[in-house]
Amino acid sequence: MSRTKSHEIFARAKHLMPGGVNSPARAFGAVGGEPIVFERGEGAYLFDVDGNQYIDYIGSWGPMILGHLHPAVREALHAAVDQGTSFGAPTERENGLAELIIELVPSVEQVRLVNSGTEATMSAIRLARGFTGRNKIVKFSGNYHGHVDSLLVAAGSAAATLGVPNSPGVTPGTAEDTIVLPYNDIAALDQLFEQHPDAIAGVIFEPVVGNMGCVPPMPGFLEKIREHCTHYGAVMIMDEVMTGFRVAMGGAQQLYGITPDLTTLGKIVGGGLPIGAYGGRADIMGHILPAGEVFQAGTLSGNPLATAAGIATLKTLKETDPYPKLDARTKTLEEGFKAAAAEADVPTVTARVGSMLTLFFHNEPVRCWDDAAKCDTARYGKFFWEMIERGVYLPCSQYEALFISAAHTDADITKTIEAAKQSLAALKK
Ligand code: PMP
Repeated sequence: MSRTKSHEIFARAKHLMPGGVNSPARAFGAVGGEPIVFERGEGAYLFDVDGNQYIDYIGSWGPMILGHLHPAVREALHAAVDQGTSFGAPTERENGLAELIIELVPSVEQVRLVNSGTEATMSAIRLARGFTGRNKIVKFSGNYHGHVDSLLVAAGSAAATLGVPNSPGVTPGTAEDTIVLPYNDIAALDQLFEQHPDAIAGVIFEPVVGNMGCVPPMPGFLEKIREHCTHYGAVMIMDEVMTGFRVAMGGAQQLYGITPDLTTLGKIVGGGLPIGAYGGRADIMGHILPAGEVFQAGTLSGNPLATAAGIATLKTLKETDPYPKLDARTKTLEEGFKAAAAEADVPTVTARVGSMLTLFFHNEPVRCWDDAAKCDTARYGKFFWEMIERGVYLPCSQYEALFISAAHTDADITKTIEAAKQSLAALKK
């Protein structure tokens, strides 16, 4: 595959933006080589500036669950554009999106729209602190909640990929109020709450981790977080930026039947436009300004274009219920990966929840960051490039889950499995 134009554009980008990118996750730092520059996306496919076509398993890191350029989203955006792009004042579309979120996400009674997942988690932890009058926030290693200072401690995603668990610029004072525990470790959670019964404002977590590869919660883990938060008066913050409207219509909270106090959303809720949201118990949300005193604001929050795309996406999901099909297709892909790895004799394990999937280059199940850290990331990098050469665009890091969209067909899955067979065999050479 020739990528001459891609190379030229990225060479210019490196002078214009740090590392040539606007977010490190897309920089290909973990797999080596240069990022591909894209021109357009349609359905399950991406097309680069040199005219190469790829089956896309990133979906803009989650939002594109309907595939690229879905007609309903496209039409909603065209209609919205013709009415003006931002007013900084109330619109009916904000009600429309809020109503859908409240209807679909079991724990959400009231919601506030923001502009990214990062803003959602930052605001939720401020609210948890304001509501409880306590300072400490608990998070889990390998869980990523955006680039919020106090949550950029032992974080996953690009922070894990690039080996920056504690970023320069995050002050010791900020990190001091963040307590980090291993994911899926119930004993550690028990011990922490016993030691600090009155200090913990909230526990923030990914209900299915996507940011150290796909790592599902072990039985009882989410239940234990719920139990301790209730008992000790801490706010349970389920970060569903990735899992919301992904692992089920009502997110992981619906899938596992666990009701958090606050939920953070992003990605799918904006249908590919910049948006985030946080919501939950009305008595907690009532503490947000101007109803209450916890400050949080945004010039573009509730933006007409973003809410239009979000409404069109959620309505389409509701009307078409693609989840059983997404689950079945992703399962086929998982089985295909497993068989291909066995045939090529490459040690791997898979993890999957609905349409989130990771092929780990490791020979044991991955339950927490210490397990994930043992993966053969160099081998993943080689696999990644072999797949690119066969027209399959996977996450450019072992520590990111892949996503399937409603636009992926059985033929796409078959083609991907065939590519995986050849790619894994090539690793042996
Ligand atoms: N929380 C989770 C679970 C995420 O996966 C992400 C982004 N990958 C974020 C928060 C941050 O969202 P954003 O990139 O929109 O700021």
